[in-house]
Amino acid sequence: MLKVDKKSEPSFLTDFKKRNKPSAWDDYNQADIKPKLKEFMLENEQDGYCPYCEVYIKDDKSHIEHIRPKDIFPRVFDNHDNLMACCMSPNTCGGSKANKYDENFINPVINNPKEYLEYDLSSGDIVPIHSEGEYYEMAIYTIDLLNLNYRKLSDARRSLSIELNYLYEESDFDYYKDELKKFPSLIDFIKEDIFG
Ligand SMILES: [Zn+2]
Repeated sequence: MLKVDKKSEPSFLTDFKKRNKPSAWDDYNQADIKPKLKEFMLENEQDGYCPYCEVYIKDDKSHIEHIRPKDIFPRVFDNHDNLMACCMSPNTCGGSKANKYDENFINPVINNPKEYLEYDLSSGDIVPIHSEGEYYEMAIYTIDLLNLNYRKLSDARRSLSIELNYLYEESDFDYYKDELKKFPSLIDFIKEDIFG
């Protein structure tokens, strides 16, 4: 899971709000506002990745995810800080989370996932760093809600960690990360493990 550093709300979104006074998410179905917003967020805030599963979605289909679900938190339904572009997987991420959310959720706009989550390289699973307490509870809740250890994801991460055994130089890891465009925090995790 990746930290998302939100930029200021883009002016096209501010203008759209002023002009159209949207009161529900459906009001955004007009014009090309949703595609424009996704492109802005992927390009400027997310490096092209789904922040939950770390699959590269810039050239693929994606949807706009409400971190706090719009049905439960109607007041933030179009708050820029509550929106991210997210993958279309029906089994993980937004597809798994749906309308569920509570304060145990690791919100990647507010919290840094690196402080909560790490990897079990033998299985490819994402696991809590801490063994008890609030950080542990939040990690467990979030991994489960987003289904981050969905078999296909864990298998792909495990395979990647084996491939990375063949890299020797620190710079190889950065190069590999740019080329592969998948699971950047796993690559960083292994790099830090080796080079500190
Ligand atoms: Zn995803």
